[in-house]
Amino acid sequence: MDEIAKLKQELERTKMELGILYEISNAMRSTLKLDEILYIILTGVTAHIGLGFNRAVLFLVNEKDFLIEGKMAIGPETGEEAGRIWTQIEHEKMDLEELISAHNASEQVAESGFKREVQNMRIPLRDKDKSLLVLVALEGMPLHLTRETIHSYRHDHIVQLLKSEEIVLIPLKAKDKVIGIVVADNFITKDPIIKNDIRMLTLLANQAGLAIEDSQLYEKTVLRAHTDALTELWNHGYFQYLLHTELEKTKATQKPLTLITIDIDDFKIYNDTLGHQAGDRILKDLALLLKDQSRKMDHVCRYGGEEFMMILPQTEKKEAFLIAERLRETIKMSPFSHEDILPSKHLTVSIGLASFPENGSNPSELIASSDKALYEAKHKGKNSTCCAI
Ligand code: GH3
Ligand code: MG
Ligand code: MG
Repeated sequence: MDEIAKLKQELERTKMELGILYEISNAMRSTLKLDEILYIILTGVTAHIGLGFNRAVLFLVNEKDFLIEGKMAIGPETGEEAGRIWTQIEHEKMDLEELISAHNASEQVAESGFKREVQNMRIPLRDKDKSLLVLVALEGMPLHLTRETIHSYRHDHIVQLLKSEEIVLIPLKAKDKVIGIVVADNFITKDPIIKNDIRMLTLLANQAGLAIEDSQLYEKTVLRAHTDALTELWNHGYFQYLLHTELEKTKATQKPLTLITIDIDDFKIYNDTLGHQAGDRILKDLALLLKDQSRKMDHVCRYGGEEFMMILPQTEKKEAFLIAERLRETIKMSPFSHEDILPSKHLTVSIGLASFPENGSNPSELIASSDKALYEAKHKGKNSTCCAI
């Protein structure tokens, strides 16, 4: 009889666990945005009605730079915070779906303490003796640091970060490749991590790995669709979108914005003399320089042919003029292949500049104003910057 009761209990538990996994994988399928996927995974790992760990941290493998990067963390930082959050969830009887939609993944960005530390973590994949995260990424096996074993690893990145007595690290796999690692602990409740917790986490990790890979592929495709193939700058279509959205933001915050149009001087001569391919190389080199000279918040776009646009958010005309002039000087002083065949012996550009609100209140007015200013700069004798008035 006892045996039957035990079996029944086990069956009930398995049913519940499968339900949880089903709910989490359904939620993951509802979006292709990477941040949202990561948030759903971590909520599933930590929610009381999910796998119930106190905290979870997610790392992704960056194959290009051969690094492991911290991406997101979820969980209270103190017992006090834990009590508050868990009571609220209990009180509001939130289910997993409600928990997932209660927070916006983007809210996670500006957090304090260990969550911010996670986002700054970059661990080279080179040395597996130096980091447990690297070991898990390379071996593709889960790792359980128990109260007994964790002391030997007290200098490890992840142990130092979590300051916990027991930790589990699980690889996130897409097919046979490890694409990330999820780390979980019970920092507040100190509940021991049992075999079944690890089994559930591994099942979830397998689903999660595939969802992350899908989303990364999708994001890559979207990025490619917005990128100009030759210069790798934003293309014309995306420029229109960016200008529109930046203007909306600008209007909402009542800040200025400046649009800069850049056109290469006498580029036809360069092409006619050295050929189209040589011209293409110049476009590539110039694009790199523009990107290099721009600030993080600026958008550098290829408008068409040998014309470029730069959107400078939160920048009024005076400041933008100084930026444009510095850019023009830098271009003139920088070496470009065979530039001596040009009339001025240097590759130079002419720049037109128009600002919101004074030169236009919508994208097409601003583009027209800055184009007109560019025309003036050409008219003045090229290699100069003119502002719309
Ligand atoms: P200006 O100083 O008045 O700008 O003279 P320009 O010769 O540069 O004239 P324009 O701005 O009309 O330049 C158009 C030329 O740029 C035509 C073509 O030779 C070249 N061009 C446009 N798009 C491309 C491109 O994608 N690749 C290459 N190699 N050349 C291009
Ligand atoms: Mg042109
Ligand atoms: Mg030109």
